[in-house]
Amino acid sequence: MIDFSKFNNIISLTSYFNSEETCKQTIIESRWNNGDVVCPYCGNHDCVERTDGRFRCKSCRKNFSCLVGTIFENTKLPLIKWFIAMYLISSHKKGVSSYQLSRDINVTQSTAWYMLQKIRLLYPQSDADTFDGTVECDEVYIGGKEKWKHKSMRTPHTQGRSTKTKTPVFGMMERSVFINEKGKEESISYVHAFVVDKTDKATLQPIIEQFVMKGTRVITDELNAYNGLSKLGYTHAIVNHGAQEYAYEDIFTNSIEGFWSHFRRMILGCYHDVSDEHLQQYIDEAVFRWNTRKMNASERFAHMFTMSIGVIKTWDDIKVGLMCA
Ligand SMILES: [Zn+2]
Repeated sequence: MIDFSKFNNIISLTSYFNSEETCKQTIIESRWNNGDVVCPYCGNHDCVERTDGRFRCKSCRKNFSCLVGTIFENTKLPLIKWFIAMYLISSHKKGVSSYQLSRDINVTQSTAWYMLQKIRLLYPQSDADTFDGTVECDEVYIGGKEKWKHKSMRTPHTQGRSTKTKTPVFGMMERSVFINEKGKEESISYVHAFVVDKTDKATLQPIIEQFVMKGTRVITDELNAYNGLSKLGYTHAIVNHGAQEYAYEDIFTNSIEGFWSHFRRMILGCYHDVSDEHLQQYIDEAVFRWNTRKMNASERFAHMFTMSIGVIKTWDDIKVGLMCA
């Protein structure tokens, strides 16, 4: 099995993956437990390698390459270009634009855009990752002149929570701790964030119920949409932004505001204007980057590589990984 820890920079990545053959061999070994090839169509283990490097299933008799069922299926590009793209997108704090990527790996801008969109599909947010302990909830509104200003900072009566020109995004952040290499407790946080139609009770509370375990302490602002969370089995603590009461002991939503500003920097610094149609994918990317920010470049690449060949990991796996590290 390949040791991903050696890929701590792009030179080590490109010198290891110096041929299409090595790239494919790595996919085969990582995807199928040291080369025990499984048919992607019927799940049969009895497969033979053909002379052209593809495989033939002895049960359903279909031929397939090691790329079937991965994000690389049907690609005409050398795999190393995909690997470099994944490395760049996972190691650059603010992401990589399609213009930058097209120059970096010598493909057209539209190809680079397509690759980035495909790579973004690798990290949808799943409710397999539920939050507990202490969770901050908050909303931001994207679009319009006052975009990105937190609601408490905006000019009164000119914007509010109108969703006519702005898209609401709802976020939840679990505050957590892990044990670092030195055996010390270090704080860490994980985020889920979604584009929503409205920021009313009927929209937000089902999302909270889906992603946050009952019994969790949920910290929100004074928005009416959060009324009744205690009845749903949560310990509800409220920050009153209107009364300039931002932090009382550990009752605050400042941590998730850190995520919003990280997202803002990513969009402003790299992607500029994002259409509503693609907004969720950029949010997913920002969430991925946030949730893996305590990892180093090689760990993040290993995680992305694993997902690219179809082995989905959840944040819970990552948390376990960090705790054991
Ligand atoms: Zn088969």
